[in-house]
Amino acid sequence: MKYIKNVAKIEINQEKCGGCGICLNVCPHAVISIDEGKAFLSNKDRCIECGACDINCPVNAIGVEKGVGCASAIISSWFTRSKASKTI
Ligand code: SF4
Ligand code: SF4
Repeated sequence: MKYIKNVAKIEINQEKCGGCGICLNVCPHAVISIDEGKAFLSNKDRCIECGACDINCPVNAIGVEKGVGCASAIISSWFTRSKASKTI
């Protein structure tokens, strides 16, 4: 499943990444892959910004801004729709 395109706020610092694979194992949406010993975002638009990869990375190579991208956009759209339906 993909969410809204290009809104997830997540980055991987490949210079810090040691390729341990923990982020792959904890990610519930298969967002991250490893190539040549370095993690990269193979399915960024599937990220729900849960922060599991960020919390579990032993070298702090992942940065996730929780709730400012996809999740926030979806929640905002709910409120926008509910406001619009009240004014009709
Ligand atoms: S958990 Fe961190 S060090 Fe391990 S593969 Fe993922 S980004 Fe790299
Ligand atoms: S924040 Fe959550 S969904 Fe996004 S890549 Fe990390 S573990 Fe996967």
